[in-house]
Amino acid sequence: MKPFIVVPDGFDKSLFEELKKSNELEVHPNLKVSQDELKTLLPKVNGLIIRSATTVNAELLALAPNLKIVIRAGEGTDNIDKNLCASKGVKVANTPGANNNSAAEQAIALMMSCLRNTPFADKTMHEGKWEKNALTGLELWKKKVGVIGFGRIGQIVTKRISGFEPEVLFFDPIIEKSEFTFAKKAKDLAEIFSTCDIITIHTPLMPQTKGMITGELLALMKKEAIIINCARGGIVDEDALYSILKEKKIRAAGFDVFAIEPLPADSKLLELNNLIMSPHVGASTEEAQFRVGEMAVHQIKEFFISNNLLNEVKGK
Ligand code: NAD
Repeated sequence: MKPFIVVPDGFDKSLFEELKKSNELEVHPNLKVSQDELKTLLPKVNGLIIRSATTVNAELLALAPNLKIVIRAGEGTDNIDKNLCASKGVKVANTPGANNNSAAEQAIALMMSCLRNTPFADKTMHEGKWEKNALTGLELWKKKVGVIGFGRIGQIVTKRISGFEPEVLFFDPIIEKSEFTFAKKAKDLAEIFSTCDIITIHTPLMPQTKGMITGELLALMKKEAIIINCARGGIVDEDALYSILKEKKIRAAGFDVFAIEPLPADSKLLELNNLIMSPHVGASTEEAQFRVGEMAVHQIKEFFISNNLLNEVKGK
């Protein structure tokens, strides 16, 4: 019998059609299936390609005795109980790196929006106003940019903004040197917060980084500085961010990610007109979604046809 694959949360249609053409796999004909329909399919399922809408927990695994692999088309696997999967012999994999450029570009978009207050300009234009006097911005050219977390996305941001001739100061516990002559390692976070014009965060959320950006660090920022978080909610102390923005002690912040998502409708962050927000869309581009799907299709074929497990994710 051919391995039976279901793609409940959907991805690029053309890739799905290509997957269905495989003679060695049986693919459920619908791209996207409801969670109720998924339950009826699970007893037969051997491979799942999911995004964030499907949660792989005890309930799902109990209904899927023949499941061999779950591929998260994307990076974050927090919707998969990986220990339980391991105990049941179900492999877990993701598609790392496919959305890094998109996340980097969203960080840069938020940077530019904060410097020129583009959302305010657009909102007031739509209200029929001409707020030219309230819209004196700042340039990105030749600014000092602090990059916290100098991994893949932090370095893509650095490369993409290189045309603005910045001086970059990065902070990362593992990376000592940079390939960019204009980027130097900071001695600590305090150096970044007290000297940079633009600060952008690109670390994972983990015990060491949870709440890492404290009120004390934010208080070191220059009055015209901006801070961007396109990494994960919870890295920045949101109460402290609220206070510093409310009191206008810094120019602005641009956040794509929040400690609680979706951001609750009664969040006090919504009061702030110097906080530019987006609803965790760093990876949400057509190109990133295509690359993620392309990798997932390749990986499921490799696993079932060539017995090759790519990008395995272990742990909790
Ligand atoms: P990466 O692993 O390549 O880089 C992360 C870097 O952070 C590493 O170099 C690591 O050494 C560093 N780091 C770890 N602890 C640190 C600390 N305490 N202080 C400073 N640096 C520290 O990861 P990446 O692919 O660059 O992704 C970075 C983050 O971006 C991840 O959290 C990822 O989830 C997030 N992300 C967000 C979106 C979005 O939609 N907004 C999309 C993709 C990725």
